[in-house]
Amino acid sequence: MKTFAIAIDGPSASGKSTVAKIVAEKLNFLYVDTGAMYRAFTYACIINNIDPKNETEAIKLIGKINISFNKENHITLNNIDVSKEIRMNDVADNVSYIASYKDIRIELVRLQRGIANDRNVVMDGRDIGSHVLPNADVKIFQIAEANERARRRYKENLEKGINSSFDSILENVKKRDYIDSHREFSPLVAAKDCITIDTTYMSIEDVVNEILKICKSKGIE
Ligand code: C5P
Repeated sequence: MKTFAIAIDGPSASGKSTVAKIVAEKLNFLYVDTGAMYRAFTYACIINNIDPKNETEAIKLIGKINISFNKENHITLNNIDVSKEIRMNDVADNVSYIASYKDIRIELVRLQRGIANDRNVVMDGRDIGSHVLPNADVKIFQIAEANERARRRYKENLEKGINSSFDSILENVKKRDYIDSHREFSPLVAAKDCITIDTTYMSIEDVVNEILKICKSKGIE
């Protein structure tokens, strides 16, 4: 049976996950948050006293930890729901190092392809359209100005009760943009055949409708 895949890529805090979740719900597709997987790996390093900047030590966790999603589609580490823990500042500050290690990417991409293999998915990340699912039916590259992205993340954190300063979020967003787009293996890049949506001045609803329109034009509704 033919399955459909919608890839939504873009820089940190560009609103991908909010939009991807709604699009998945409207289409009755599975939403796959690949950033959560890199974050879970980073969290695993932290609780195992491994410095995420130490590639040799970090990659030793491959095969020793189990990263997956539970029935509620929450990210799990060794079957324990870590969806709250992966949003900690410590994880955000270190995840781009973990995501730059080739061996870790190969392992997590294998898991991501496995999830999309026999299901209709909306998958968000940095390299979904360019690398993970190059045959995705729809490829969106969602961007927004860095200040606006930091403002959105700051608001989201406030709503979740996470303490953070706007300036530190802006710094983190810019730092992750830089590392994500300059890494050697599978960097953040717009796929050749993607459609770029600049969401700086758009509401969530507008972005969702734009993507659903694109999906409809490809026979997905
Ligand atoms: O999407 P989110 O901001 O939660 O992703 C956290 C980090 O995971 C990103 O900054 C990036 O370093 C990494 N990532 C990645 N490739 C993906 C998804 C996320 O490198 N497909």
